[in-house]
Amino acid sequence: MERTEHIFIVRCGEVALKGMNKPYFERMLVERIKKLLRKFDGVSVKRHEGLIFVRADINLDKQAIIKEISKVFGVASISPAIECDSTMEAIGEAAVEYMMEAIEERGVKTFKVEAKRADKTFPVKSPDIGRRIGAAVLKGCKVLKVDVHHPDCLLFVDVRKDTSYIYQDKIAGFGGLPLGTNGKGMTLLSGGIDSPVATWMMAKRGMLIEAVHFHSYPYTSQRAQEKVEELASQVATYCGRFKLHVINLLPIQEQIVTNCPEEETTILVRRFMMRIAERLAKDTGCTMLITGENLGQVASQTAEALVVTDASVSMPVMRPLIAMDKVDIMDKAQEIGTFETSIQPYEDCCTVFLPKHPVTKPKLEKILHSESKLDCEALIQAAVDSQEIITIYPQ
Ligand code: ATP
Ligand code: MG
Repeated sequence: MERTEHIFIVRCGEVALKGMNKPYFERMLVERIKKLLRKFDGVSVKRHEGLIFVRADINLDKQAIIKEISKVFGVASISPAIECDSTMEAIGEAAVEYMMEAIEERGVKTFKVEAKRADKTFPVKSPDIGRRIGAAVLKGCKVLKVDVHHPDCLLFVDVRKDTSYIYQDKIAGFGGLPLGTNGKGMTLLSGGIDSPVATWMMAKRGMLIEAVHFHSYPYTSQRAQEKVEELASQVATYCGRFKLHVINLLPIQEQIVTNCPEEETTILVRRFMMRIAERLAKDTGCTMLITGENLGQVASQTAEALVVTDASVSMPVMRPLIAMDKVDIMDKAQEIGTFETSIQPYEDCCTVFLPKHPVTKPKLEKILHSESKLDCEALIQAAVDSQEIITIYPQ
């Protein structure tokens, strides 16, 4: 039979567990998939019997479509499939056709059929479907042998009410929850390795993203900011278009350097970053802050420093990387495609006035005393007022 479309079966992961919310999560998931596939002509996305079916014109690039779907949070797995009528004869023919292609394309020599009967009124039981379709394939593809232990091809036969589906691969998605199902967070995005990963992890749990980046122009360069925009855009391929608030921290840093103890510079700067981010968050409907902080990684991320940082804001601060090892964070950055950009060597505002011996165990009273020498409110407001807002589009 001449096929006119690619079919992809998309499975929701945790989404399937959400009880009463299930239809809502599935709808959100379908919307996200539709959005990412909008760039292709001739694609439809529909929910059917607890699965999502994506159909695409046969002339479209199958791999490109799989790549897009696999970026959608909430997708557990994807299987390119073929469909046929739910009769043993039609299923047998389709299975032969499918395996012929597998032999041609991948040199498959052995196979095993895994049959499942979602329609319990279907007259043949699952083990029998497996046996009979296996026999049909052996008859239709003479070069093939059955191997129940290590088959080259595990052929799934999913028998449903009117239509049945045949597929082999289950391509893993990232899982998580559909975007937009879990509030909105303001992420502090630097040019480093950690914060893009942290942002991605929160978005994976369904959180919409808004971002803030601090620079110290002219101590930091225009190119450093472009790097951050590039990173943001890479993250946006997963979490959709978002706004990046860009703020020059230099006036605040200069005040700190002039008026406060040198060893406290970093922690004081960090507290300002958090307060500015919180102010922006409140203005943009975000209820949480997100950072790439990681316990013990640097002086400003010791347990004591994190307590002092936290005390600067009242909004909850999400730190999804807090207990991860650096190598695992780096692996994740590789996987999501931000690593190569992150390691480009451009200066960051944090390194501009780096103290020689930063305090690793800051005391809140001392820090508050240092801050009392500054007009914090005016500095924060001036920073917020001078923000530049950039819309970040997916790459
Ligand atoms: P990263 O790799 O994300 O830059 P890091 O290990 O370099 O993290 P720090 O520089 O101490 O750690 O920053 C800790 C967190 O503070 C970052 O993960 C990020 O969330 C935020 N942050 C740091 N610098 C900036 C910046 N210039 N603009 C916005 N947020 C920043
Ligand atoms: Mg950094």
